[in-house]
Amino acid sequence: DNATIAFLGLGHMGGPMAVNLVKGGYHVVGFDVVPAALETAKAQGVPTAASPVEAVSGAGVVLTMFPSGQHVLDAYRGVDGQPGLLAAAAPGTMFLDCSTINVDEALQASALAVDAGHLAVDAPVSGGVVGAEAGTLTFMVGGEPDDFETVRPMLEVMGKRVVHCGGHGGGQAAKICNNLILGVSMIAVSEAFVLGEKLGLTHQALFDVASAASGQCWALTTNCPVPGPVPTSPANRDYQPGFAGALMAKDLKLAVNALQSTGVAARLGPLASEIYDRFAAEGGAGRDFSGIITDIRDKSQGG
Ligand code: NAD
Repeated sequence: DNATIAFLGLGHMGGPMAVNLVKGGYHVVGFDVVPAALETAKAQGVPTAASPVEAVSGAGVVLTMFPSGQHVLDAYRGVDGQPGLLAAAAPGTMFLDCSTINVDEALQASALAVDAGHLAVDAPVSGGVVGAEAGTLTFMVGGEPDDFETVRPMLEVMGKRVVHCGGHGGGQAAKICNNLILGVSMIAVSEAFVLGEKLGLTHQALFDVASAASGQCWALTTNCPVPGPVPTSPANRDYQPGFAGALMAKDLKLAVNALQSTGVAARLGPLASEIYDRFAAEGGAGRDFSGIITDIRDKSQGG
């Protein structure tokens, strides 16, 4: 039944999400390939299984929270002679993937599930570890309307906004389109602040104008890349995330893959992807993505 959830992938996000499902009254059976993740979940009150097959037996829902689409496809199909989740689950099981993956991979995963006689929904999240712990994530959901209604109550336990974005892959599409806007706009805001510095504008003056004018955006008014104007932004705590550079680099790579496979004449997306890749490789992986401003400043003439 749908109150019994096999939860696979108990990492930074999955761990606290599983805890919230338990608190919400669901019968959760957790599994992770990393024993330490399994132990942490167990210590926080999440019942665990010794194998993925054991986790999915008796579950009405198989929820995955993995690093990448390859992990999802491998787990669904099984690798190295191990049985896959699709084969291990009872017919008609709901396969709910909350990982952030390529749209193409999400379509492939849902097709595999449906072909195996199951149901499938993609439901990537935003809100980070803080949102996962607090149960305030936003879920972007792709799938059939009936399947959306089936998963909505459990997503509402883990999040505060649950948006049906369309058919299979729609959740992933919404997530990467949003993060394409975010990644590019943060670079634009950062370039403007560094230019303002060169031209003798104070951060506060530029903020006061742009935040009330047509330059207004989340990257400026919530996650402001300079310390001062928005006291809660990561810039005020030496760019501790927040939203880590490695995750922005990952999401932009997914966006670029989709831009390429659909043939969109995009230029800023691929460039932003390159910029965050370099930021992540040069020490920004674990810093907030707004730390990109320090990179722009450092690489500017006169330092
Ligand atoms: P993570 O690496 O901490 O957790 C992933 C977990 O999956 C790991 O513990 C890993 O051992 C486990 N795993 C991998 N293959 C498995 C398998 N076959 N069976 C069981 N367990 C398996 O990653 P995370 O930070 O929790 O992120 C998970 C997903 O959420 C990613 O797709 C990420 O892009 C997305 N996301 C993360 C954040 C964030 O702030 N961390 C925010 C939004 C979205």
